[in-house]
Order: sequence, then structure tokens, then C-alpha cells
Amino acid sequence: MTLGPFAARLDRAHEAMELAGVDALLLSVGADLPWLCGYVAMPLERLTVLVVPAAASGQQPTLVVPELEAPRVTRAPEVFSVRPWAEADDAIGIVASLVRQGTPRAPVLAIGDRTWATFVLRLQAALADADWRPASTVMAPLRAIKDATEIEALAEAAAAADRVAAALLAGEIPLVGRTEREVSTELTRRLLEEGHERVNFAIVGSGPNSASPHHEPAERAIRPGDAVVCDFGGSMGGYCSDITRTVFTGTPSPELARVYTVVAEAQAAGALAAQVGEPCSSVDRAAREVIDGAGFGQYFVHRTGHGIGLEEHEDPYMVAGNPTLLSAGHVFSVEPGIYIPGRYGVRIEDIVAVTADGPQPLNQADHALTVVEA
Ligand code: ZN
Ligand code: ZN
Ligand code: ZN
Repeated sequence: MTLGPFAARLDRAHEAMELAGVDALLLSVGADLPWLCGYVAMPLERLTVLVVPAAASGQQPTLVVPELEAPRVTRAPEVFSVRPWAEADDAIGIVASLVRQGTPRAPVLAIGDRTWATFVLRLQAALADADWRPASTVMAPLRAIKDATEIEALAEAAAAADRVAAALLAGEIPLVGRTEREVSTELTRRLLEEGHERVNFAIVGSGPNSASPHHEPAERAIRPGDAVVCDFGGSMGGYCSDITRTVFTGTPSPELARVYTVVAEAQAAGALAAQVGEPCSSVDRAAREVIDGAGFGQYFVHRTGHGIGLEEHEDPYMVAGNPTLLSAGHVFSVEPGIYIPGRYGVRIEDIVAVTADGPQPLNQADHALTVVEA
């Protein structure tokens, strides 16, 4: 019999809690809870909390959940038990008493970073002697290293996004004469058709708008000769995709073609630097050195990448000053760009997994400069 990934993840969480001196984890809305037990809390006014006492307490984790939502819980009795609460019950009191049973006096409690303030404030009042910290101090480094199940899910989401990118590169998604919003809507529809359950963003920035990295697609009609930055992603099987390709609706000027080549080289250099034992900052440095060396350093205005998993942006971040050492199982974007204000921008983004055998891009869509005639 297999217990699925959750029993192993609970073991890792217990070890990390012990190292951090945390007596109990309290996880509510956000990605920590589904990572640890497979359940997504509804972001509503009724409280859902998984109480995870330290391993030394001998107490099993308990999911405190509104009675009417309890049927949604997939039971895993070897990992956690379920404590439904009825409308007239005191949910805060139930959580507080579970914490009291599993922890010493003046416990150190780590609460999920996305927990609503309305619950945090009431829990703090009910557990007035506790020392509080964000659960990310325990959970973020664990979630950053993906297990085999997660890498497979991320690869499937990336492959689906690749199919949409391939259609874009092949000219199957008309651009000229359509508004950015229309193209964004088509990218969204295609991601859903390729199996995503949700689309998180579909940025389309054309012409001068391509110089704005997080441009909100609007009414501008795409013209011949534009650079068009398309950055889209969502989630599939709970795990996120995120890809950017920049295409041209006409042969680019020599200067713009040069910018494209520099960004492509920077992206390849960043991906190649994703080696076990290297700090995250070295991925950023490798990409940035290419862009600096070509004289465009001032136009690369963001970090090189972000971790990805159950959330579209999560640890680790590929940014100057991040000393976190890369391990097999780290998965993140490598997405350098050059943005010349008022004129044009170029970005290329792939998701890359770190493995013992070197970096493995999860996206395969082409990087060659592509002119789309449609
Ligand atoms: Zn972004
Ligand atoms: Zn992106
Ligand atoms: Zn990204």
C-alpha cells in the first residue's frame, strides 16, 4: 500500500519544525495546506485550520473544517484526522484546545502566511502566551524542493503551455489587427482547452506596450512590425505553468533583432547556471552578465526568475543577494528581458528544474526569432 506523498511530506515538516523550535503549525488558506494534506481551504468566513503539533507530542495533525465543507475532504487517516465544526460551535476555541493538547505552555506557533487577519487576531487572543511566526519559515524551504509527483505535474502543465506557445509561434493565433485583449482571451481559452483548470494571467504587450513587463492587455490593435510579448500561465492538476515568448509581426529592425538575440543568450546562460550547489544569485548573475555585456543592463529591470509550484510565484527567487544553494528538485523560471521605454521589449521565459544531471528545462517551445505573418 502506498500512502501517497503526504506521509513523507509530514515527516519532512516534522523535522523542519523540530529544527526551527516550532511546537505547532497552523495552516489555513494558501498552498501550505494542500501541499501537506491535499486539501484546499475555501477562502471564506468559516475557519479551516490544520493543526500540526510537533512529532514529539505524539499527537496526530487535525483538520478543523466547517461541517458543510467536510465532505470535500479526501480522508488520509494515517496523516491527519478531521474535526468538523457545526454552525453554532466556537471554531477558534476548538483550534485553541487542540493546540493546548499538543504543545507546552508558551508554545511557539507557526501560522500560514496567507491566513486572514480576522482569524489570526482571534487565535492570538485565545492563545495569548504563544510566540507567533509565519509558517513560511518552516514550509517555504520544504515546498521549494519538489518531489517526483510534483515535477511530473509541473512538466505536464509546462507541456500544455508549450502547445499554446507552439500555436503562437506557428502563426495559428492571428495577431495583426486584433487587440491585445482579444489575443489574451484566445491564449486563455487555449490554455483551458489544453487541460488547465485555471488561467492566472495572459499578458499580451505589443509595440511600445511590450516595454512594460507586466502590461495589462488592452484595446491597442497589434500592427505589422510590432514586438509582441506573450506571457501566460495557469494551473493544471494544482501545479502552475508560466511561459513567455516574444514574436514579431514583421521582420524586426537590426537593433530589435540584436536585442532578441541578447535576451535569448541571457536566457540560455541563466538556465545553464541552474546547477546543484550554486547559489540562486548565480542564475541571476549569469543572465544579467550577458545583458550587461551587450550594453543593455539598465533595461533589465526585474529579477531573473521565481520558484513555481502550487503557487505561480514562490521560493526560491533568482535574484541578486539570494544565497540559497540550488538542490535537485528546485524548479523556477528563467525569464530575462530587455525593455526600452516607449519603444519595445523582449522577454523569453522557461521553467527549469534542477537535477543531479544538470538543468532540465520543462518548456520546449522554440527560442528562435520568429516572425508571425498572421
Ligand atoms: Zn512576471
Ligand atoms: Zn511569466
Ligand atoms: Zn514568471
